Amino acid sequence: MHINDAVFLEDLCPKFRFRKWRKSIHRFTGKSCIYCGKPSESIDHVLPRSQGGLSTTENCVPACLSCNGDKSDENALYWYRRQKFYDPRRAMAIKAWLEGDLRLAIRLLQWANPNFKVSNKNYEKDDSEYKAA
Ligand SMILES: [Zn+2]
Repeated sequence: MHINDAVFLEDLCPKFRFRKWRKSIHRFTGKSCIYCGKPSESIDHVLPRSQGGLSTTENCVPACLSCNGDKSDENALYWYRRQKFYDPRRAMAIKAWLEGDLRLAIRLLQWANPNFKVSNKNYEKDDSEYKAA
């Protein structure tokens, strides 16, 4: 697909934009669950949609299905503190993520997981773009 076609498609089709946004969220953490570090298979709303949580980058984190399902409608930080895989660096990363500081969040995740690799080097540039989504 040509780059210009992609931009055009995105304008035409919000679903396409949404898929791209989801992908970018997984890229921020190198496709790993923000809570436990396993492969992220889903997007978790930190503040659940049932409690008014929005589908913004700040409120959506990559999560594996097990964390996402287990957390359910709970407050993410309270839930996370009770988990066996609790890591204070990850908790700080989640907080930073919620505050929209993806740069700090990613640095903390890297610290928590030395194998973690960021494939998307443009996250700073992309950040403002996705906030509007
Ligand atoms: Zn997980």
